Amino acid sequence: MAGQRARQADLTIHVAGEWRPALSGATREILDPADAMPFAQVAEGGERDADTAVAAARRAFDAGSWPHTPVAERAALLRRVADLLVRDREELGLLESRDAGKTVEEGRVDIDCVADAFRYFADLVVAEGPGRVVDAGSPEIHSVVVHEPVGVCTLITPWNYPLLQASWKIAPALAAGNTFVVKPSEITPMTTIALIERLVEAGLPAGVANIVTGPGHSVGARLAEHPDVDLVSFTGGLVSGTKVAQAAAAGVKKIALELGGKNPNVVFADACVTEDGFDTAVDQALNAAFIHSGQVCSAGARLIVEESVRERFVAELARRAGRIRLGRGTEKGVECGPLVSVQQRARTEEYVASALAEGAVLRCGGKRPEPSETRPAGGYFYEPTVLDQCHREMKVVREEVFGPVLTVETFRTEDEAVALANDTEYGLAGAVWTADPGRARRVAGRLRHGTVWINDFHPYLPQAEWGGFGKSGIGRELGPAGLAEYRETKHVYQNLAPRPVRWFAG
Ligand code: NAD
Repeated sequence: MAGQRARQADLTIHVAGEWRPALSGATREILDPADAMPFAQVAEGGERDADTAVAAARRAFDAGSWPHTPVAERAALLRRVADLLVRDREELGLLESRDAGKTVEEGRVDIDCVADAFRYFADLVVAEGPGRVVDAGSPEIHSVVVHEPVGVCTLITPWNYPLLQASWKIAPALAAGNTFVVKPSEITPMTTIALIERLVEAGLPAGVANIVTGPGHSVGARLAEHPDVDLVSFTGGLVSGTKVAQAAAAGVKKIALELGGKNPNVVFADACVTEDGFDTAVDQALNAAFIHSGQVCSAGARLIVEESVRERFVAELARRAGRIRLGRGTEKGVECGPLVSVQQRARTEEYVASALAEGAVLRCGGKRPEPSETRPAGGYFYEPTVLDQCHREMKVVREEVFGPVLTVETFRTEDEAVALANDTEYGLAGAVWTADPGRARRVAGRLRHGTVWINDFHPYLPQAEWGGFGKSGIGRELGPAGLAEYRETKHVYQNLAPRPVRWFAG
């Protein structure tokens, strides 16, 4: 626990191996979304803090040992980090719950997934080895393609899965031998700070892992444009992602963007013929839309259901959505927490109001719940909401709400279902529910989304790439491509019998 004890409460900027306050001395209170009360204080960094962190990461990359540390040793460190996360699962799960408003059980599952990401990239980097020998077609040539780290990485993360999203960047960045500066969301920085403490405890050299807590418009923007940064990996919304891409482009930095989604959940009538099939499809549609109050980039926020089963399906869905137990994530029996912030709830309310003004029919929710023993009056709660009779011209169908709002559209033919599901500028994830294996394959093949689930929703695997088509992003996280993002590829061509070429006669 040495890493944890080394830090005082509001020293949350970690640069060159030291925990510091912001250079300006500014601080920020971190609110518990269940009651809007502060439960922690962090340093509110600025551009100068970002500059010092990049300088530290640059020194650690150019003159430090980490980029040249043998792959097996880097992997061993990643595995130690995974062990520390498992050791501290309860503490970190609880912290994630308070910070992001999710239930403690969701927080614990997140920590398990974070540990899995560290183990996966440790295994992968060892399995992939140092590179490959290329057959140059001559015994006089020895040609190899090797992997090298990219350099200094800026890692910017959102508030919905604060530590999970950070781990999908930090684990491969370290496995590949890079140094980094991470900037967590200013409203949910606590578990990323805690992860840096565990990296220190695991023995990572000073300067390799740096964190600057602070706002996106100052710290994030500076880290994205900084001339000494080689790579920017960003997860967040489309608007900020576009700004980050513009800032990074000026310096021709490598860039990876994981942005939003407006994800279709397509239900064919044949999936609902048996009672079990119907129950499963409804249950998973609920999970798709409302887990973590819909604040999930891959949330199944668009239910696209075959017309013939629509009424029965939506009635059951609305009945069950109305029974979801909302409350503080740490309370026993609570199934769904609050929205993360007052802004996020206001945004959700605006989308619901616009949908109703455009003709949607409210089947359940659409308001704040009454306070209760498990639901403090100040918390940012909002009821799971089902909006029926929606269509693709509606703002609520086109744009990402990032709240507990499910829209319902219907189709009559397979072609129509596919056209609706693909009618989005995003393309992160989508699902198809059907009892017909041929249809499942056909529809999955036609969906323009980075992940397609057949008769399921939400699972991902660390060994399978995650990312989006269209405006859902550029590049992939997880899987071999998620490691490749953090690597340069170098071809080393050695002539074993050099002699003149005589191209020029003179
Ligand atoms: P956001 O874009 O507001 O913020 C994300 C991060 O970017 C934060 O750390 C923020 O401080 C920073 N930031 C904001 N403006 C910036 C700027 N100009 N320059 C640099 N950094 C800046 O997103 P959010 O509200 O925190 O998160 C929700 C969004 O994230 C949703 O759109 C969601 O779909 C997306 N998301 C995507 C994935 C994925 O895997 N594709 C995963 C989780 C979340």
